[in-house]
Amino acid sequence: MTVVKEDLSSNERSLNFLEEIINDSIAKGDSRIQTRFPPEPNGYLHIGHAKSICINFGLAKKYGGKCNLRFDDTNPVKEDVEYVDSIKEDVNWLGFQWADEYYASDYFDQLYDWAIELIKLGKAYVDDQTQEEIRQGRGTVMVAGTDSPFRDRSVEENLDLFERMKGGEFADGEKILRAKIDMSHPNMLMRDPIMYRILHTDHHRTGSKWCIYPMYDYAHGQSDSIEQVTHSICTLEFDVHKPIYYWFIEQLGIFPSKQYEFARLNITHTMMSKRKLLQLVENNVVAGWDDPRMPTICALRRKGYTPESIRSFAERVGVAKRDNVIDLGLLEFCIREDLNKKAQRRMAVVNPIKVVITNFDENETEMFDCINNPEDESAGRRFVPFSNVIYIDKDDFMEEPMKKYFRLSPGKEVRLRYSYLIKCNEVIKDESGEIVELHCTYDPESKNGTSSDGRKVKGVIHWVAAKSAIEADVRLFDNLFLNENADDVEEGKTFMDYVNPNSLIVKRAFIEPSLASANVGDSFQFERVGYFTLDKDTTADNLVFNRTVGLKDSWAKMASAAGVKK
Ligand code: ATP
Ligand code: MG
Repeated sequence: MTVVKEDLSSNERSLNFLEEIINDSIAKGDSRIQTRFPPEPNGYLHIGHAKSICINFGLAKKYGGKCNLRFDDTNPVKEDVEYVDSIKEDVNWLGFQWADEYYASDYFDQLYDWAIELIKLGKAYVDDQTQEEIRQGRGTVMVAGTDSPFRDRSVEENLDLFERMKGGEFADGEKILRAKIDMSHPNMLMRDPIMYRILHTDHHRTGSKWCIYPMYDYAHGQSDSIEQVTHSICTLEFDVHKPIYYWFIEQLGIFPSKQYEFARLNITHTMMSKRKLLQLVENNVVAGWDDPRMPTICALRRKGYTPESIRSFAERVGVAKRDNVIDLGLLEFCIREDLNKKAQRRMAVVNPIKVVITNFDENETEMFDCINNPEDESAGRRFVPFSNVIYIDKDDFMEEPMKKYFRLSPGKEVRLRYSYLIKCNEVIKDESGEIVELHCTYDPESKNGTSSDGRKVKGVIHWVAAKSAIEADVRLFDNLFLNENADDVEEGKTFMDYVNPNSLIVKRAFIEPSLASANVGDSFQFERVGYFTLDKDTTADNLVFNRTVGLKDSWAKMASAAGVKK
């Protein structure tokens, strides 16, 4: 799979192929549009699902139709109400409201009746073969399958056995119900697909009522049909399932829903599979489904992503017909763009070094009037205290500056953001030679961008006054996976071998006092550092911030390196 290198940052686009299909059907007089988002409640939703949600709800909205939420809950072994609740929360949070909430399990009675109907039509039979025998009987792409010895059971016998399967007379795996299609069909999935299997497992909604459960292929199309879904939109891997989808609908003569496929969303350095994400959670590689390093919607929310940024990402990625991998930089571009408009600016020093301003009165505190957001006047202003001891970032000082280094160095001047010019006079080191403190003097005439004699100083750095600073944990996240495409795994290795051991670094930072009143979920731009969001792990005496995204736009850099215009 190739990584998309073209620039997707533009907001303008032409119709995608799904919109063209809908326009065509409207032109033919079919103007009712109904879609559905059909998650299986076996994990938390990830950004790939967000893409599907945006397509399904987006199309319904655009064409004045409706979109339902349907839980595809046909496998009780892996499903849970915890997941149902989280899915509803995530869809709502993304900004969508479903017309109706349905469950495939609502249709278990109807699906059972239709199975009986198919048996009576001679289109379904009970098979006693073992899993292995069934697998072998399917043949291969090159070799036709062979009929099961049970394929020609009489209708009566099939009805009797199926009823007894439902009654709980047989153990798991002892019997299955299969559609009687064609054991030499070129599409292997059409070689008598399984409709029902026995599972003596309680279901989170139907309890112990059933011990036979329908397979995805038998349940999905019929569920669409019962709800009168017009456009059943799914990902490409279901293309090969399409003939089964239509086969059942045709045999039963029910509402003809139509299936359309688009490419799954993949993103570099992360993973889009609930099953694998569950493994990360279960093996404590991450701290839970909402660990900010995860690609789940709840993790992105916790990290500080907004619904707008995710919707804009989905829109920019578009609807493709071929699988590809989208650069993580594009997702970061989208949140940066949104938070630039919304997040208030604050000063925070993540790698502090102490600076003593030797000519500033140690008993004095001066308040600097700062704007909260240059992009949004309504965000107002605040006062930031300044006193004789401040912290600046280690990276903003170089003892032996390289060429074009405009920040602080011995004998040189720099501007403190919103405040004075300071000049470094002395570098204090400990016995090991480590710099512990810088001694500087300030120019009292240099407030508000001026200086006493009109001299120009290029560098501007951020700072926090020591006396009034508060300490906070800041979590710096890096890619969860080291390999660009998490599915590219060398032989003998698994995706687990590519987990980045340094995906989380926690720093103790000094931050300006106004941040003490921040609420969990509030996002800020720490000037010159990045966007940070207050985490739910914050306690009365310890603030915890998650880095939502850094300030550097790697996406723009990559796009320009690839020679595309922004
Ligand atoms: P996973 O492999 O992560 O469990 P899934 O396809 O089994 O994914 P479902 O809950 O069955 O997950 O998916 C609900 C809907 O979301 C389906 O229509 C599916 O096609 C779509 N979907 C899942 N993953 C992606 C993705 N990466 N990109 C776009 N759509 C996706
Ligand atoms: Mg699935």
